[in-house]
Amino acid sequence: MMLQQQLPMDTVAAIAAAVDSTMAVHCEVLKSLVKIPGVARPGFDPALLEVSAARVRELFQAAGFPDARIVRGLGGTGKPGAPAVLARRAAAPGFPTVLLYAHHDVQPAGPSEAWTTPPFEPGERDGRLFGRGVADDKAGIVMHLAAVQAMESVLGPGHGLGLSIFIEGEEEAGSPTLEGIFAEYGKDLQAETAIVADSGSWKIGTPALTASLRGMVDGIITVRVLDHALHSGTYGGPVLDALTVLARLMASFHHDDGSVAVEGLLSSSALGPDMEEGVFRKDAGVLAGVELAGRGSLTSRLWNKPALSFVGLDTEPIATAGNILLPEASVKFSLRIPPGNDPGQAMEAIRQHAAKHTPFGAELTFIPGSWSKPFTVAADDPAVQATLWSLETAWGSSAVMMGVGGSIPFAAALAEEQPGCSILITGAEDPDTRAHGTDESVHLEELRNAILAEALYLAHLQFTSDLAVGR
Ligand SMILES: [Zn+2]
Repeated sequence: MMLQQQLPMDTVAAIAAAVDSTMAVHCEVLKSLVKIPGVARPGFDPALLEVSAARVRELFQAAGFPDARIVRGLGGTGKPGAPAVLARRAAAPGFPTVLLYAHHDVQPAGPSEAWTTPPFEPGERDGRLFGRGVADDKAGIVMHLAAVQAMESVLGPGHGLGLSIFIEGEEEAGSPTLEGIFAEYGKDLQAETAIVADSGSWKIGTPALTASLRGMVDGIITVRVLDHALHSGTYGGPVLDALTVLARLMASFHHDDGSVAVEGLLSSSALGPDMEEGVFRKDAGVLAGVELAGRGSLTSRLWNKPALSFVGLDTEPIATAGNILLPEASVKFSLRIPPGNDPGQAMEAIRQHAAKHTPFGAELTFIPGSWSKPFTVAADDPAVQATLWSLETAWGSSAVMMGVGGSIPFAAALAEEQPGCSILITGAEDPDTRAHGTDESVHLEELRNAILAEALYLAHLQFTSDLAVGR
């Protein structure tokens, strides 16, 4: 079903022409960003993040945001975070402000040899541009730059829309100082709608609005059984080692079919599309013969149900292991929670499960870690409907509402800080993008469509506000 027309057809055509005539330039800008490997993690050169932020600031200054500046949030310890870029242009009376979000930091590239072409030397093959961060999330930065430019080239500089730009510098590190950013710069981030360009299409040719994100909680569970290590020959038998006890506790967290067995965690209602098992197995690289876990449609397992993983274990490494009974062992868990769950309650559910299922009366220590909230949109929000129209018009095919199993901390934080703001999560990724993986890439036709959709959405907003203001 195609949605109702939201803009005059000649305006749509003019904006499409403006995007198409500038795509080559946008590709070069994207390449210039990919060449700067800014990773916001310990062990990576923080100076590169500064270079990356400076480049982003320069691009927005050149795009008509002279106040574009570098800002940092203060973390819990008072230590400033990674450099972000902030810019704002005030709205004319009666016009809304749109916040445009992306992030300029990237995931580590991993071993360079694993890439077909070096990760920080962007190269084009088969209609795709390859490089670390080319999609996640430097394509998001280019979307905002290009969409604003196309919209303004058609509507003129006096369009009246307020525009706020926030390009984060530590998203891939879990946005540790986002709270500090909102505390210090919350006013600059005030907006009626926000476009969070850090997601993408359902598949190539089928655009999507990301309508739900899972939140996350993590933490560490430790079991202790002895006050010191023992000879396994002398004491083994009546005394079980801590690793065995911990393994039994870990096994209790899932049912036999692999679904999460923790009481008190909620599932959310399923969204439209499902995926084919064969495609999913191939994308995920599941080994032949390995069965998938859980119940229900694949998308419901990815978007609408909790998922619990154990991501690290502290115990004796095999290289130094002797024939002894280990006194203590720890595991780090990572729990994804769908919309409807409160992170604090989810953390408590894990703690209670661990307390109830620790066998042999072992001593249990539970250390809660970080958490982020899940996110969902209201389908009847007019901003959601207008976004679906802009996606369908740009792609020329029906759009879907989809979920994403991961988290975008900024979306959840913005929903908390500005409950009235409509948060629209889009982007230029597709299932072959391999964000975070080797050979990350963006499909250039998808990028063009994503830019056009954003430009159309902005123009629609301007057009309807203009009618309301009666200029
Ligand atoms: Zn991202």
